Amino acid sequence: MWKYDPNSAKADEFINHEEIMETLAYAEQNKADKVLLREILKKAEERKGLSHREASVLLACEEEEINQEIFRLAKQIKQDFYGNRIVLFAPLYLSNYCVNGCTYCPYHAVNHHMPRKKLTQEEVRREVIALQDMGHKRLAIESGEDPVNNPIEYILECVNTIYGIHHKNGAIRRVNVNIAATTVENYKKLKDAEIGTYILFQETYHKESYLKLHPTGPKHDYNYHTEAMDRAMLGGIDDVGCGVLFGLDKFRYEFAGLLMHAEHLEAVFGVGPHTISVPRLRNADDIDSTSFANGIDDDTFAKIVACIRIAVPYTGMIVSTRENQQTRERVLQLGISQISGGSRTSVGGYVEPEPEDQRSEQFDVMDNRTLDQVVGWLMELGYVPSFCTACYREGRTGDRFMSLCKSGQIQNCCHPNALMTLKEYLVDYASPSTLKIGEELIQKELGNIPKEQVRSLVIEHLDRIQQGQRDFRF
Ligand code: SAM
Repeated sequence: MWKYDPNSAKADEFINHEEIMETLAYAEQNKADKVLLREILKKAEERKGLSHREASVLLACEEEEINQEIFRLAKQIKQDFYGNRIVLFAPLYLSNYCVNGCTYCPYHAVNHHMPRKKLTQEEVRREVIALQDMGHKRLAIESGEDPVNNPIEYILECVNTIYGIHHKNGAIRRVNVNIAATTVENYKKLKDAEIGTYILFQETYHKESYLKLHPTGPKHDYNYHTEAMDRAMLGGIDDVGCGVLFGLDKFRYEFAGLLMHAEHLEAVFGVGPHTISVPRLRNADDIDSTSFANGIDDDTFAKIVACIRIAVPYTGMIVSTRENQQTRERVLQLGISQISGGSRTSVGGYVEPEPEDQRSEQFDVMDNRTLDQVVGWLMELGYVPSFCTACYREGRTGDRFMSLCKSGQIQNCCHPNALMTLKEYLVDYASPSTLKIGEELIQKELGNIPKEQVRSLVIEHLDRIQQGQRDFRF
Protein backbone atom coordinates (compact mmCIF):
# COMPACT_ATOMS: atom_id res chain seq x y z
CA MET A 1 0.00 0.00 0.00
CA TRP A 2 1.20 3.53 -0.79
CA LYS A 3 1.91 5.92 2.06
CA TYR A 4 0.67 9.50 2.00
CA ASP A 5 3.51 11.96 1.48
CA PRO A 6 2.93 15.46 0.09
CA ASN A 7 6.66 15.77 -0.63
CA SER A 8 6.82 12.66 -2.76
CA ALA A 9 7.23 12.84 -6.54
CA LYS A 10 4.94 9.82 -6.94
CA ALA A 11 1.28 10.43 -7.79
CA ASP A 12 0.09 7.55 -5.59
CA GLU A 13 1.79 9.12 -2.59
CA PHE A 14 0.93 12.82 -2.94
CA ILE A 15 -2.63 12.03 -4.09
CA ASN A 16 -3.05 9.14 -1.76
CA HIS A 17 -6.31 7.17 -1.98
CA GLU A 18 -6.21 6.00 1.66
CA GLU A 19 -5.57 9.53 2.87
CA ILE A 20 -8.54 10.80 0.85
CA MET A 21 -10.80 8.04 2.20
CA GLU A 22 -9.72 8.80 5.77
CA THR A 23 -10.27 12.51 5.13
CA LEU A 24 -13.79 11.86 3.88
CA ALA A 25 -14.56 9.65 6.89
CA TYR A 26 -13.16 12.34 9.23
CA ALA A 27 -15.28 14.99 7.48
CA GLU A 28 -18.40 12.84 7.75
CA GLN A 29 -17.82 12.16 11.45
CA ASN A 30 -17.21 15.81 12.28
CA LYS A 31 -19.54 17.61 9.91
CA ALA A 32 -21.96 18.53 12.72
CA ASP A 33 -19.34 19.30 15.35
CA LYS A 34 -19.93 23.01 15.74
CA VAL A 35 -16.96 23.55 18.02
CA LEU A 36 -14.57 22.06 15.48
CA LEU A 37 -16.30 23.82 12.58
CA ARG A 38 -15.92 27.17 14.34
CA GLU A 39 -12.26 26.45 15.09
CA ILE A 40 -11.65 25.75 11.40
CA LEU A 41 -13.45 28.93 10.42
CA LYS A 42 -11.40 30.88 12.94
CA LYS A 43 -8.22 29.55 11.37
CA ALA A 44 -9.56 30.40 7.91
CA GLU A 45 -10.16 33.99 9.09
CA GLU A 46 -6.37 34.35 9.28
CA ARG A 47 -6.32 34.13 5.45
CA LYS A 48 -3.55 31.55 5.42
CA GLY A 49 -5.62 28.77 4.00
CA LEU A 50 -6.73 25.38 5.30
CA SER A 51 -5.53 21.82 4.95
CA HIS A 52 -7.47 19.39 2.76
CA ARG A 53 -8.84 17.78 5.92
CA GLU A 54 -10.07 20.99 7.47
CA ALA A 55 -11.59 22.21 4.22
CA SER A 56 -13.27 18.84 3.68
CA VAL A 57 -15.08 19.18 7.02
CA LEU A 58 -16.42 22.57 5.92
CA LEU A 59 -17.51 21.12 2.60
CA ALA A 60 -19.36 18.27 4.32
CA CYS A 61 -21.07 20.55 6.85
CA GLU A 62 -24.86 20.74 6.60
CA GLU A 63 -25.42 23.22 9.44
CA GLU A 64 -27.23 26.18 7.91
CA GLU A 65 -25.72 28.73 10.25
CA ILE A 66 -22.14 27.52 9.65
CA ASN A 67 -22.72 27.37 5.91
CA GLN A 68 -23.78 31.02 5.97
CA GLU A 69 -20.51 31.76 7.78
CA ILE A 70 -18.58 29.88 5.09
CA PHE A 71 -20.21 31.93 2.33
CA ARG A 72 -19.66 35.17 4.23
CA LEU A 73 -15.97 34.41 4.75
CA ALA A 74 -15.47 33.34 1.11
CA LYS A 75 -16.95 36.66 -0.04
CA GLN A 76 -14.75 38.56 2.37
CA ILE A 77 -11.55 36.78 1.31
CA LYS A 78 -12.42 37.29 -2.32
CA GLN A 79 -12.95 41.00 -1.68
CA ASP A 80 -9.73 41.35 0.34
CA PHE A 81 -7.45 39.61 -2.17
CA TYR A 82 -9.06 40.25 -5.51
CA GLY A 83 -11.20 43.32 -4.85
CA ASN A 84 -13.93 43.74 -7.46
CA ARG A 85 -11.71 42.93 -10.44
CA ILE A 86 -12.58 40.08 -12.81
CA VAL A 87 -10.04 39.09 -15.43
CA LEU A 88 -11.40 38.15 -18.86
CA PHE A 89 -10.10 35.65 -21.39
CA ALA A 90 -11.25 33.45 -24.26
CA PRO A 91 -10.39 29.89 -25.27
CA LEU A 92 -8.96 29.32 -28.74
CA TYR A 93 -9.34 25.77 -30.06
CA LEU A 94 -6.45 24.88 -32.35
CA SER A 95 -7.18 21.27 -33.19
CA ASN A 96 -9.63 18.53 -32.29
CA TYR A 97 -7.49 15.70 -33.58
CA CYS A 98 -7.11 13.37 -30.62
CA VAL A 99 -5.81 9.86 -30.06
CA ASN A 100 -7.31 9.44 -26.57
CA GLY A 101 -10.48 7.62 -25.64
CA CYS A 102 -11.87 9.93 -22.91
CA THR A 103 -15.46 8.76 -22.48
CA TYR A 104 -16.82 12.22 -21.60
CA CYS A 105 -15.19 14.22 -24.40
CA PRO A 106 -16.53 14.30 -27.98
CA TYR A 107 -12.98 14.60 -29.34
CA HIS A 108 -12.36 10.95 -28.37
CA ALA A 109 -10.67 8.98 -31.12
CA VAL A 110 -13.62 6.73 -31.95
CA ASN A 111 -15.98 9.61 -32.66
CA HIS A 112 -15.88 9.07 -36.39
CA HIS A 113 -18.65 11.46 -37.39
CA MET A 114 -17.15 14.61 -35.83
CA PRO A 115 -15.18 16.51 -38.45
CA ARG A 116 -11.53 16.75 -37.50
CA LYS A 117 -10.07 20.20 -37.91
CA LYS A 118 -6.72 21.77 -37.28
CA LEU A 119 -6.08 25.45 -37.81
CA THR A 120 -3.40 26.44 -40.30
CA GLN A 121 -1.25 29.42 -39.27
CA GLU A 122 -3.34 31.58 -41.60
CA GLU A 123 -6.50 30.37 -39.85
CA VAL A 124 -4.91 31.02 -36.45
CA ARG A 125 -4.25 34.55 -37.68
CA ARG A 126 -7.87 35.04 -38.70
CA GLU A 127 -9.20 33.64 -35.43
CA VAL A 128 -6.87 35.87 -33.42
CA ILE A 129 -7.87 38.96 -35.40
CA ALA A 130 -11.52 38.12 -34.67
CA LEU A 131 -10.65 37.75 -30.97
CA GLN A 132 -8.66 41.00 -30.95
CA ASP A 133 -11.59 42.76 -32.62
CA MET A 134 -13.78 41.61 -29.74
CA GLY A 135 -11.27 43.17 -27.32
CA HIS A 136 -9.52 40.09 -25.93
CA LYS A 137 -5.94 40.33 -24.66
CA ARG A 138 -5.62 36.91 -23.00
CA LEU A 139 -6.22 33.54 -24.59
CA ALA A 140 -6.20 29.96 -23.42
CA ILE A 141 -5.23 27.71 -26.33
CA GLU A 142 -6.80 24.26 -26.38
CA SER A 143 -5.98 21.18 -28.34
CA GLY A 144 -6.62 17.46 -28.45
CA GLU A 145 -3.68 15.12 -27.93
CA ASP A 146 -2.20 13.79 -31.14
CA PRO A 147 1.56 13.52 -31.52
CA VAL A 148 1.31 13.36 -35.31
CA ASN A 149 -1.24 16.09 -36.00
CA ASN A 150 -0.61 18.36 -33.00
CA PRO A 151 3.04 17.87 -32.02
CA ILE A 152 4.65 20.35 -29.65
CA GLU A 153 6.22 22.14 -32.65
CA TYR A 154 2.71 22.92 -33.93
CA ILE A 155 1.63 24.32 -30.56
CA LEU A 156 4.81 26.43 -30.34
CA GLU A 157 4.31 27.73 -33.86
CA CYS A 158 0.75 28.76 -32.97
CA VAL A 159 1.90 30.55 -29.79
CA ASN A 160 4.47 32.41 -31.85
CA THR A 161 1.91 33.34 -34.51
CA ILE A 162 -0.55 34.54 -31.87
CA TYR A 163 1.96 36.83 -30.13
CA GLY A 164 3.02 38.25 -33.49
CA ILE A 165 -0.41 39.51 -34.58
CA HIS A 166 -1.13 43.21 -34.06
CA HIS A 167 -4.32 44.17 -35.76
CA LYS A 168 -5.32 47.83 -35.26
CA ASN A 169 -4.75 48.40 -31.52
CA GLY A 170 -5.16 44.69 -30.79
CA ALA A 171 -2.64 42.39 -29.18
CA ILE A 172 -2.75 39.08 -27.38
CA ARG A 173 -0.46 39.69 -24.45
CA ARG A 174 -0.79 36.41 -22.61
CA VAL A 175 -1.28 32.95 -24.07
CA ASN A 176 -2.16 30.27 -21.55
CA VAL A 177 -1.89 26.71 -22.75
CA ASN A 178 -4.23 23.79 -22.08
CA ILE A 179 -2.67 20.77 -23.75
CA ALA A 180 -2.11 17.17 -22.70
CA ALA A 181 0.53 16.16 -20.17
CA THR A 182 3.98 16.20 -21.73
CA THR A 183 7.70 15.96 -20.99
CA VAL A 184 9.96 18.32 -19.02
CA GLU A 185 11.72 19.09 -22.28
CA ASN A 186 8.47 20.17 -23.94
CA TYR A 187 7.48 22.24 -20.91
CA LYS A 188 10.84 24.03 -21.24
CA LYS A 189 9.98 24.78 -24.86
CA LEU A 190 6.61 26.19 -23.82
CA LYS A 191 8.33 28.31 -21.19
CA ASP A 192 10.78 29.60 -23.80
CA ALA A 193 7.82 30.46 -26.03
CA GLU A 194 6.67 32.73 -23.15
CA ILE A 195 3.39 31.10 -22.37
CA GLY A 196 1.48 32.32 -19.34
CA THR A 197 -0.14 29.54 -17.31
CA TYR A 198 0.12 25.87 -18.21
CA ILE A 199 -3.35 24.46 -17.55
CA LEU A 200 -4.15 20.80 -17.20
CA PHE A 201 -7.30 19.43 -15.64
CA GLN A 202 -6.88 16.28 -13.64
CA GLU A 203 -10.41 15.29 -14.74
CA THR A 204 -10.67 12.99 -11.70
CA TYR A 205 -8.27 12.22 -8.87
CA HIS A 206 -9.92 8.84 -8.33
CA LYS A 207 -7.44 6.50 -9.98
CA GLU A 208 -9.79 3.58 -10.55
CA SER A 209 -12.40 5.84 -12.19
CA TYR A 210 -9.70 7.66 -14.11
CA LEU A 211 -8.54 4.44 -15.71
CA LYS A 212 -12.09 3.59 -16.80
CA LEU A 213 -12.85 7.11 -18.05
CA HIS A 214 -9.63 7.12 -20.09
CA PRO A 215 -9.64 3.57 -21.44
CA THR A 216 -7.24 4.12 -24.33
CA GLY A 217 -4.47 6.45 -25.50
CA PRO A 218 -1.56 8.11 -23.67
CA LYS A 219 -3.95 9.86 -21.28
CA HIS A 220 -4.78 6.43 -19.79
CA ASP A 221 -1.54 6.70 -17.79
CA TYR A 222 -2.87 8.17 -14.52
CA ASN A 223 0.53 8.67 -12.92
CA TYR A 224 2.02 10.42 -15.93
CA HIS A 225 -1.01 12.73 -16.06
CA THR A 226 -1.06 13.41 -12.31
CA GLU A 227 2.67 14.16 -12.17
CA ALA A 228 2.47 16.59 -15.13
CA MET A 229 2.48 19.73 -12.99
CA ASP A 230 5.71 18.60 -11.36
CA ARG A 231 7.30 18.22 -14.77
CA ALA A 232 5.94 21.61 -15.83
CA MET A 233 7.52 23.18 -12.75
CA LEU A 234 10.79 21.37 -13.43
CA GLY A 235 10.62 22.76 -16.95
CA GLY A 236 10.50 26.26 -15.46
CA ILE A 237 6.77 26.99 -15.72
CA ASP A 238 5.85 28.32 -12.31
CA ASP A 239 2.26 29.32 -13.10
CA VAL A 240 0.22 26.15 -13.39
CA GLY A 241 -3.56 25.80 -13.46
CA CYS A 242 -5.29 22.78 -11.92
CA GLY A 243 -8.89 21.63 -12.03
CA VAL A 244 -11.19 18.64 -12.04
CA LEU A 245 -14.13 17.96 -14.27
CA PHE A 246 -16.98 17.87 -11.79
CA GLY A 247 -19.47 15.16 -12.63
CA LEU A 248 -17.00 12.37 -13.31
CA ASP A 249 -16.52 11.13 -9.75
CA LYS A 250 -17.77 12.08 -6.26
CA PHE A 251 -17.21 15.76 -5.65
CA ARG A 252 -15.92 15.37 -2.07
CA TYR A 253 -13.21 13.02 -3.27
CA GLU A 254 -12.23 15.44 -6.05
CA PHE A 255 -12.20 18.39 -3.69
CA ALA A 256 -9.81 16.66 -1.27
CA GLY A 257 -7.61 15.52 -4.18
CA LEU A 258 -7.47 19.02 -5.63
CA LEU A 259 -6.33 20.51 -2.33
CA MET A 260 -3.79 17.72 -1.83
CA HIS A 261 -2.40 18.52 -5.26
CA ALA A 262 -2.05 22.19 -4.25
CA GLU A 263 -0.39 21.18 -0.97
CA HIS A 264 2.02 18.94 -2.85
CA LEU A 265 3.10 21.70 -5.26
CA GLU A 266 3.49 24.12 -2.38
CA ALA A 267 5.54 21.57 -0.40
CA VAL A 268 7.86 20.62 -3.25
CA PHE A 269 8.15 23.82 -5.28
CA GLY A 270 7.23 26.45 -2.70
CA VAL A 271 4.30 27.65 -4.79
CA GLY A 272 0.82 26.24 -5.23
CA PRO A 273 -1.27 26.40 -8.40
CA HIS A 274 -1.72 29.85 -9.93
CA THR A 275 -5.34 29.02 -10.74
CA ILE A 276 -7.96 26.40 -10.09
CA SER A 277 -10.72 25.81 -12.63
CA VAL A 278 -14.09 24.37 -11.73
CA PRO A 279 -15.55 22.95 -14.95
CA ARG A 280 -18.73 20.89 -14.80
CA LEU A 281 -19.43 18.15 -17.31
CA ARG A 282 -21.71 19.30 -20.16
CA ASN A 283 -23.55 17.75 -23.06
CA ALA A 284 -21.57 17.61 -26.23
CA ASP A 285 -21.81 16.00 -29.67
CA ASP A 286 -22.07 12.30 -28.69
CA ILE A 287 -21.85 12.91 -24.92
CA ASP A 288 -24.94 12.83 -22.72
CA SER A 289 -23.91 14.36 -19.40
CA THR A 290 -26.91 12.78 -17.63
CA SER A 291 -25.45 9.33 -18.27
CA PHE A 292 -22.69 10.19 -15.76
CA ALA A 293 -23.83 9.46 -12.23
CA ASN A 294 -21.95 12.13 -10.28
CA GLY A 295 -23.34 15.42 -11.56
CA ILE A 296 -23.55 18.19 -8.95
CA ASP A 297 -26.34 20.71 -8.47
CA ASP A 298 -25.92 24.49 -8.37
CA ASP A 299 -25.94 24.71 -4.56
CA THR A 300 -23.16 22.14 -4.26
CA PHE A 301 -21.23 23.93 -6.98
CA ALA A 302 -21.47 27.23 -5.08
CA LYS A 303 -20.36 25.54 -1.86
CA ILE A 304 -17.32 24.02 -3.60
CA VAL A 305 -16.30 27.43 -4.97
CA ALA A 306 -16.66 29.02 -1.52
CA CYS A 307 -14.65 26.25 0.18
CA ILE A 308 -11.84 26.46 -2.41
CA ARG A 309 -11.72 30.23 -1.92
CA ILE A 310 -11.27 29.77 1.83
CA ALA A 311 -8.80 26.88 1.55
CA VAL A 312 -6.40 28.50 -0.97
CA PRO A 313 -6.91 32.26 -0.72
CA TYR A 314 -4.00 33.15 -3.05
CA THR A 315 -5.07 30.91 -5.91
CA GLY A 316 -7.08 32.49 -8.72
CA MET A 317 -10.29 30.69 -9.63
CA ILE A 318 -11.72 30.32 -13.12
CA VAL A 319 -15.26 29.71 -14.34
CA SER A 320 -15.92 29.20 -18.03
CA THR A 321 -18.98 29.48 -20.28
CA ARG A 322 -19.86 25.91 -19.27
CA GLU A 323 -21.90 27.84 -16.68
CA ASN A 324 -24.86 30.05 -17.50
CA GLN A 325 -25.18 33.74 -16.61
CA GLN A 326 -27.10 33.05 -13.40
CA THR A 327 -24.60 30.54 -12.01
CA ARG A 328 -21.66 32.71 -13.00
CA GLU A 329 -23.26 35.63 -11.19
CA ARG A 330 -23.64 33.55 -8.06
CA VAL A 331 -20.08 32.21 -7.93
CA LEU A 332 -18.37 35.47 -8.93
CA GLN A 333 -18.93 36.86 -5.48
CA LEU A 334 -17.86 33.63 -3.77
CA GLY A 335 -14.34 33.57 -5.15
CA ILE A 336 -14.07 33.49 -8.93
CA SER A 337 -11.37 35.83 -10.25
CA GLN A 338 -11.33 35.00 -13.98
CA ILE A 339 -14.05 34.23 -16.50
CA SER A 340 -14.18 33.59 -20.22
CA GLY A 341 -16.45 35.67 -22.42
CA GLY A 342 -17.76 35.48 -25.97
CA SER A 343 -16.30 31.95 -26.17
CA ARG A 344 -16.50 29.44 -29.00
CA THR A 345 -15.48 25.88 -28.24
CA SER A 346 -15.14 24.83 -31.86
CA VAL A 347 -12.04 24.77 -34.02
CA GLY A 348 -12.26 27.92 -36.10
CA GLY A 349 -15.50 29.18 -34.58
CA TYR A 350 -14.64 32.84 -34.12
CA VAL A 351 -14.37 33.83 -37.76
CA GLU A 352 -17.67 32.34 -38.83
CA PRO A 353 -20.22 29.92 -37.38
CA GLU A 354 -19.79 26.32 -38.50
CA PRO A 355 -22.37 24.75 -40.82
CA GLU A 356 -24.74 22.38 -39.00
CA ASP A 357 -23.11 19.23 -40.42
CA GLN A 358 -19.55 20.41 -39.74
CA ARG A 359 -19.74 21.19 -36.02
CA SER A 360 -16.67 20.67 -33.86
CA GLU A 361 -17.66 22.15 -30.47
CA GLN A 362 -16.06 20.47 -27.48
CA PHE A 363 -19.12 21.08 -25.29
CA ASP A 364 -22.32 23.10 -25.27
CA VAL A 365 -21.73 26.68 -24.15
CA MET A 366 -24.26 27.84 -21.54
CA ASP A 367 -23.44 31.54 -21.72
CA ASN A 368 -23.68 32.73 -25.30
CA ARG A 369 -23.39 36.46 -24.69
CA THR A 370 -20.88 38.60 -26.56
CA LEU A 371 -17.79 39.89 -24.78
CA ASP A 372 -19.30 43.40 -24.82
CA GLN A 373 -22.43 42.08 -23.09
CA VAL A 374 -20.33 40.26 -20.51
CA VAL A 375 -18.22 43.38 -19.85
CA GLY A 376 -21.36 45.53 -19.49
CA TRP A 377 -23.00 42.96 -17.21
CA LEU A 378 -19.93 42.74 -14.95
CA MET A 379 -19.85 46.51 -14.56
CA GLU A 380 -23.56 46.66 -13.78
CA LEU A 381 -22.90 44.17 -11.00
CA GLY A 382 -20.16 46.45 -9.65
CA TYR A 383 -17.14 44.51 -10.93
CA VAL A 384 -14.20 45.96 -12.82
CA PRO A 385 -13.57 43.86 -15.95
CA SER A 386 -9.82 43.56 -16.37
CA PHE A 387 -7.72 42.62 -19.40
CA CYS A 388 -4.53 42.93 -17.40
CA THR A 389 -1.50 40.80 -18.25
CA ALA A 390 1.07 42.82 -16.31
CA CYS A 391 2.22 40.33 -13.69
CA TYR A 392 3.63 37.74 -15.95
CA ARG A 393 5.10 40.32 -18.34
CA GLU A 394 6.84 41.98 -15.39
CA GLY A 395 8.16 38.60 -14.24
CA ARG A 396 5.75 38.39 -11.30
CA THR A 397 4.99 34.69 -11.67
CA GLY A 398 5.07 31.82 -9.21
CA ASP A 399 6.17 32.86 -5.73
CA ARG A 400 6.80 36.46 -6.87
CA PHE A 401 3.10 36.78 -7.71
CA MET A 402 2.21 35.23 -4.36
CA SER A 403 4.39 37.80 -2.54
CA LEU A 404 2.56 40.61 -4.32
CA CYS A 405 -0.72 39.19 -3.02
CA LYS A 406 0.69 38.78 0.46
CA SER A 407 2.24 42.28 0.55
CA GLY A 408 -1.18 43.91 0.23
CA GLN A 409 0.07 46.01 -2.72
CA ILE A 410 -2.55 44.59 -5.08
CA GLN A 411 -4.71 47.67 -4.73
CA ASN A 412 -1.81 49.89 -5.88
CA CYS A 413 -0.86 47.57 -8.70
CA CYS A 414 -3.61 45.29 -10.00
CA HIS A 415 -6.36 47.83 -9.55
CA PRO A 416 -4.65 50.54 -11.67
CA ASN A 417 -3.75 47.92 -14.29
CA ALA A 418 -7.36 46.75 -14.41
CA LEU A 419 -8.61 50.32 -14.89
CA MET A 420 -6.08 51.08 -17.64
CA THR A 421 -6.82 47.89 -19.59
CA LEU A 422 -10.55 48.49 -19.18
CA LYS A 423 -10.01 51.97 -20.58
CA GLU A 424 -8.27 50.47 -23.64
CA TYR A 425 -11.24 48.16 -24.11
CA LEU A 426 -13.72 51.03 -23.83
CA VAL A 427 -11.89 53.26 -26.30
CA ASP A 428 -11.26 50.53 -28.87
CA TYR A 429 -14.14 48.06 -28.70
CA ALA A 430 -17.06 48.97 -26.44
CA SER A 431 -20.62 49.65 -27.56
CA PRO A 432 -21.95 53.12 -26.62
CA SER A 433 -23.86 51.81 -23.60
CA THR A 434 -20.87 49.81 -22.27
CA LEU A 435 -18.64 52.82 -22.87
CA LYS A 436 -20.90 55.03 -20.79
CA ILE A 437 -21.06 52.67 -17.80
CA GLY A 438 -17.32 52.05 -18.09
CA GLU A 439 -16.26 55.69 -18.04
CA GLU A 440 -18.38 56.31 -14.95
CA LEU A 441 -16.97 53.22 -13.28
CA ILE A 442 -13.36 54.24 -13.94
CA GLN A 443 -13.97 57.68 -12.44
CA LYS A 444 -15.46 56.09 -9.35
CA GLU A 445 -12.76 53.43 -9.02
CA LEU A 446 -9.88 55.92 -9.25
CA GLY A 447 -10.83 56.82 -5.70
CA ASN A 448 -10.00 53.27 -4.62
CA ILE A 449 -6.28 53.57 -5.46
CA PRO A 450 -4.70 54.17 -2.06
CA LYS A 451 -1.45 55.91 -3.08
CA GLU A 452 -1.90 59.48 -4.27
CA GLN A 453 1.17 59.26 -6.51
CA VAL A 454 -0.06 56.10 -8.24
CA ARG A 455 -3.49 57.66 -8.71
CA SER A 456 -2.14 60.73 -10.51
CA LEU A 457 0.01 58.57 -12.75
CA VAL A 458 -3.03 56.46 -13.64
CA ILE A 459 -5.03 59.60 -14.49
CA GLU A 460 -2.20 60.68 -16.77
CA HIS A 461 -2.04 57.23 -18.43
CA LEU A 462 -5.81 57.13 -18.92
CA ASP A 463 -5.55 60.43 -20.74
CA ARG A 464 -2.76 59.07 -22.93
CA ILE A 465 -4.83 55.97 -23.71
CA GLN A 466 -7.63 58.28 -24.83
CA GLN A 467 -5.06 59.97 -27.14
CA GLY A 468 -4.12 56.61 -28.70
CA GLN A 469 -1.21 55.23 -26.66
CA ARG A 470 -1.50 51.66 -25.38
CA ASP A 471 -0.07 49.12 -22.96
CA PHE A 472 0.69 50.99 -19.76
CA ARG A 473 1.27 48.83 -16.73
CA PHE A 474 2.58 48.74 -13.21
N1 SAM B 1 -6.53 17.44 -24.57
C1 SAM B 1 -6.02 18.19 -23.47
C2 SAM B 1 -6.02 17.33 -22.22
O1 SAM B 1 -6.07 16.12 -22.39
O2 SAM B 1 -5.94 17.82 -21.12
C3 SAM B 1 -6.69 19.52 -23.42
C4 SAM B 1 -7.95 19.62 -22.75
S1 SAM B 1 -9.51 19.84 -23.43
C5 SAM B 1 -9.38 20.76 -24.88
C6 SAM B 1 -10.09 20.90 -22.16
C7 SAM B 1 -10.90 20.27 -21.07
O3 SAM B 1 -12.25 20.21 -21.47
C8 SAM B 1 -10.60 18.88 -20.65
O4 SAM B 1 -9.50 18.80 -19.79
C9 SAM B 1 -11.90 18.44 -19.97
O5 SAM B 1 -11.86 18.64 -18.57
C10 SAM B 1 -12.92 19.39 -20.55
N2 SAM B 1 -14.02 18.66 -21.20
C11 SAM B 1 -13.93 17.59 -22.00
N3 SAM B 1 -15.17 17.15 -22.32
C12 SAM B 1 -16.05 17.96 -21.70
C13 SAM B 1 -17.47 18.00 -21.61
N4 SAM B 1 -18.26 17.13 -22.22
N5 SAM B 1 -18.03 18.96 -20.83
C14 SAM B 1 -17.27 19.87 -20.19
N6 SAM B 1 -15.94 19.88 -20.25
C15 SAM B 1 -15.32 18.93 -20.98
